[in-house]
Amino acid sequence: MPEARGTDTGYYFRMPTSPGPPAACSAVRISRRGATRLKDGHVWVYRSDIISADGVAPGALVKVTDERGKSLGAALYSSASQIALRMISAGPVAELPGLLRERLQAAIAYRVRVVRDSDAYRVVFSEADFLPGLIVDRYNDLLSLQVLTQAIDREPVREVVTAELNQQLKPAAIVERVDPRVRELEQLAPRSSGLIQGEKNHTIFTMNGVRFHYDALAGQKTGAFLDQRENYAAAAQYARGEALDVFCYQGGFALHLAQPCSSVTGVDSSRPALEVAERNAGLNGREIEWIEANAFDLLRDSADAGRRFDTIVLDPPAFAKSKKTLDTALRGYKELNLRALKMLRPGGTLITCSCSYHVSLADFIEVVADSARDMHRTVRVLETRSQAKDHPILLTVPETAYLKCLIIGVSY
Ligand code: SAH
Repeated sequence: MPEARGTDTGYYFRMPTSPGPPAACSAVRISRRGATRLKDGHVWVYRSDIISADGVAPGALVKVTDERGKSLGAALYSSASQIALRMISAGPVAELPGLLRERLQAAIAYRVRVVRDSDAYRVVFSEADFLPGLIVDRYNDLLSLQVLTQAIDREPVREVVTAELNQQLKPAAIVERVDPRVRELEQLAPRSSGLIQGEKNHTIFTMNGVRFHYDALAGQKTGAFLDQRENYAAAAQYARGEALDVFCYQGGFALHLAQPCSSVTGVDSSRPALEVAERNAGLNGREIEWIEANAFDLLRDSADAGRRFDTIVLDPPAFAKSKKTLDTALRGYKELNLRALKMLRPGGTLITCSCSYHVSLADFIEVVADSARDMHRTVRVLETRSQAKDHPILLTVPETAYLKCLIIGVSY
């Protein structure tokens, strides 16, 4: 596994160094502010901190130096993004393909150690696996790849990545999921989502003994929310009685709750997601009621009508897409948690999540505490959880930590 400390630069840099002699690659000089950020352990340099990047090609591997020319390591350069440099090593990089292969092997070896009871997991999580710009998810025998930067989009890099994934994981097919907005921001030519290797485009994957359909070419092409996998299993340990899964998507929580609970209702505003959820229920021989509705309206109406549940899951989309929308997002979380707490019977369980990076765990706890106070409920925190282990968190790169999941017991 990667070592934790860069040696050549002497500062505490939580990124492995690559062995070997310095490569002949272009150099990018960065400001003091940029260098300080790196010394603090971050791995991004913003465009405003670039002093010179003369003649550097889009997506190139570059040597990064401070104002005085002292080496700070190696990075992948983007000529378009506000994040101009993403560090890939605290030392010199002799040869990028070799480094990419090593990083992929380490990422795969880590999953072998930490992923349990699942053939679906995130194989590569970008910066958190020291492969900035690359995301790879596995769904049983299919791999889904996301390219987020100019550097990873380069054909030689794609070739190394797919060759290593093939060698290590032997997928039946590889599908690429394209976010057109990302390609636009990186000034990359448009490209459509679809198979880049093989022909198989759907499969069935299993998490914690629950089976799910995966269709690589279907509607949203989002696959599953793999980051919740361990939270599904945790939720199922506390869940009982009548359960409500709000923002259920394709039924991740709902299907896990079906075993311990007497009845489960899933709510989502997306009909295509609910159609897959219903097929997933069939696959597992479960009966779940799916309701297509706006969650805010449904929670308000159900709470007002005096509807009660023993278990409620809240897993909304990221409300705070930027710092500016934080207040609105917090109000959204408050409203959802208020209504859910109103509807829970004494002894019930609330599983409440936030995947907004801009909402801190402290903010989120405060919202739930406020909601409990307003509803005059006495609650206990049974578990404070985060994203599954295949979505590792870099301690000094806060952006890699985004998911919060509180399991709350309602005492009375
Ligand atoms: N809990 C799911 C993931 C939820 S993702 C799982 O574990 O798989 C967020 C979901 O919220 C998406 O499916 C989206 O369709 C849904 N959604 C977004 N806004 C909504 C709204 N106002 N009402 C109901 N569902 C909404």
